[in-house]
Amino acid sequence: MKTRIYTHPSGLQHDTGPGHPESSARLQTLLDLFAEQDWPLTEAPETELAWLYRVHQKDYVMALELAIPENDQENELRYVDADTVVCSGSWEAALTAAGAVCQAVDDVLSADDQHNRAFCAIRPPGHHAGPMNAEGFCLFNNIMIGARHALSHDKIDRVAVIDFDVHHGNGSDEITRAHDNIFYASTHQFPLYPGTGLPEDNVENRVVNVPLFAKSGAAEFRAAYTDIVFPQLESFAPDLLMISAGFDAHQDDPVGGLNLIEDDYRWITEELAKIADKHCGGKIVSALEGGYDLNALKSSVFAHIEALNK
Ligand SMILES: [Zn+2]
Repeated sequence: MKTRIYTHPSGLQHDTGPGHPESSARLQTLLDLFAEQDWPLTEAPETELAWLYRVHQKDYVMALELAIPENDQENELRYVDADTVVCSGSWEAALTAAGAVCQAVDDVLSADDQHNRAFCAIRPPGHHAGPMNAEGFCLFNNIMIGARHALSHDKIDRVAVIDFDVHHGNGSDEITRAHDNIFYASTHQFPLYPGTGLPEDNVENRVVNVPLFAKSGAAEFRAAYTDIVFPQLESFAPDLLMISAGFDAHQDDPVGGLNLIEDDYRWITEELAKIADKHCGGKIVSALEGGYDLNALKSSVFAHIEALNK
């Protein structure tokens, strides 16, 4: 299997309370998929705290740890943002989510071209988390921690992150602007939470935001990449390609209002793999972000991993 899958059971212990869309059932659904497909799993380690500080302020990391409820007998939940919840299991889940991406980066960078793809089945997601804050179900910005970790490797000078989640990754965008050697491109529904990601703020060949109107589908999504994102990504010529893989732009998703289907996720993954083959020896690290309809999440992740495996 070309794609190594990283996950950790602590992702199931991050309890967000009844009715919350970012539930442990999402990860359980993917674990069921991996078992059905007989795909092997690699258990993710916890991130080093020092690796978090490459992206997040130390004060924020310490404040978040203090906000985690200690007693797991009482099932206490605490809100660290309007819609971001922590319980006693959230700290280990957050550390292994970021740790999964860092381990995937280390392994992909040292892999031969038959094993140079990784998918991190992790929660909580990360792309809304900023240097100083949790936000939008996200505690640590897993993909940006992974990008900065990749840049700590001697031969890696440029890392590109492509974000096809239905929401703009405002945390990832902010962090990218602080680091010249990271490229960030996002397609997202607009207007929609968090209300950022307009093209007038773009930085040519470095920060590329492409908003899509509600009800946009395959044609608009594919044109955004073909006409706008891919030329700038090719110009940036990354040494590693990373994906913020959110699947909430699926037509069945209850949170987003775009009309993508599984074949669109297969298409974007195949196209990104062609660009990775051309510029960075095929090396791709993908990490789960959103995706809240369990059936759509399962079939979309299946299409994504199948395409990574090619
Ligand atoms: Zn999302």
